[in-house]
Amino acid sequence: IANELTYQELAELDKKHFMHPTSPIQQQQENGPAYIFTKGDGIYLEDVHGKKVIDGMSSLWNVNIGHGRKELGIAAMEQMNKLAFSSSFATFSNEPAIRLAAKIAEVTPGDLNATFFTSGGSEANDTAYKLARHYWILKGQPEKKKIISRIKSYHGVAMGATSATGLKPFRDFTNSLAPDFYHTDNFSAKAFEEAVISEGPDTIAAFIAEPVQGAGGVHIAPEEYFKNVRNICDKYNILFITDEVITGFGRTGKYFGIEHYGVAPDLMCFAKGVTSGYAQLGGVVLSEKIYEDFKRLSTGTLLHGYTYSGHPMACAVALKNIEIIENENLIENAKNMGAEMLKGFRWIQGEREIVKNVRALGLMGAIELNSQQSAAGPLAPLIVNEAAKQGLICRSVVFDKMDILVLAPPLSINKQEIDRLVEIIHHAIYQIE
Ligand code: PLP
Repeated sequence: IANELTYQELAELDKKHFMHPTSPIQQQQENGPAYIFTKGDGIYLEDVHGKKVIDGMSSLWNVNIGHGRKELGIAAMEQMNKLAFSSSFATFSNEPAIRLAAKIAEVTPGDLNATFFTSGGSEANDTAYKLARHYWILKGQPEKKKIISRIKSYHGVAMGATSATGLKPFRDFTNSLAPDFYHTDNFSAKAFEEAVISEGPDTIAAFIAEPVQGAGGVHIAPEEYFKNVRNICDKYNILFITDEVITGFGRTGKYFGIEHYGVAPDLMCFAKGVTSGYAQLGGVVLSEKIYEDFKRLSTGTLLHGYTYSGHPMACAVALKNIEIIENENLIENAKNMGAEMLKGFRWIQGEREIVKNVRALGLMGAIELNSQQSAAGPLAPLIVNEAAKQGLICRSVVFDKMDILVLAPPLSINKQEIDRLVEIIHHAIYQIE
């Protein structure tokens, strides 16, 4: 392969050799990659042609501090040059992982206190389900093994995470799933309690929920929902797990999404924003109470762990990323700019008839469309295409007859950039109306 490749050559190699995750495979083969990115700076990405676009999704809801922050590259390089990798299995440890676990204990709500590291969100979810089930084995109640999650949820693509995911097309992708997963309504605590009673509380290990559902279309639960869920979990002895893979590390205008609801979980999954995507890292945080039980009751070996659990370089990058989030008040900025974005969405709703509903919590926003007005089917994908022409990347959610446009720009975005983003969306909607 030559040192320098043209777009055409890269595109051909891409089609031939690179099987893309979550991709329309035939469209990919026909058209080649829509963008081959080479650079990032702030809220912008640049492709091989030198075209600059606004990364309105923070790539995959994860580039919280924005692109191109050299400090993270330096943190990675310094750690790699000192110690790129060593094991965290058994009693081996390393300083960045220790420091990061302590930092996470400091910033997470309630008595969340001990972290099990993974390489991403799917692994974090599978880890949470396994730890929850193992917990009940340790407590002498091995029959407590069912996991309840919600419809419209997304928890990743590992076998457990896929099984927990409430978006049915992801489950239908494969024809055999992990057993003992159940799905309930995404907004009704009453429906959750009914599911608990009908399944039998003594058979349920845990309930898992995203504080704000992301991939399912940015669904924000009613104000009392998680307080009621917490009470139901306490009443029936069920572990409450929050999946903060998207909502963690400032995305919603608070450090963690569940803080909007004034309750704390027993276990919390995180990934994405912990490193802003500059390295691969995730994890599960356990409450002091649960971790104490593990320490007291676990006499054998904890037989769960990934080669890259507690990866020194990834943890060093996370520490620097968190330092930037805190020093630059990016959580406060997400709250303020999120309010501006929502204001912009409301203005669009007033102007354009096809907008049915708008919502946002911090910098997680959605514009829901009236697709009944269109014979062409869902409108959001058309708007995404129009917006792309005008230099904005956003996402459509069209599962289960939804027709939603979602946005989640970097937490570092400023007012001028929000105005530009709103302007492009308005224009794109106007174009297809
Ligand atoms: N959980 C949630 C809420 C997510 O949004 C995602 C990814 O989008 C995951 C889990 C899976 O994380 P990963 O893709 O890092 O495995």
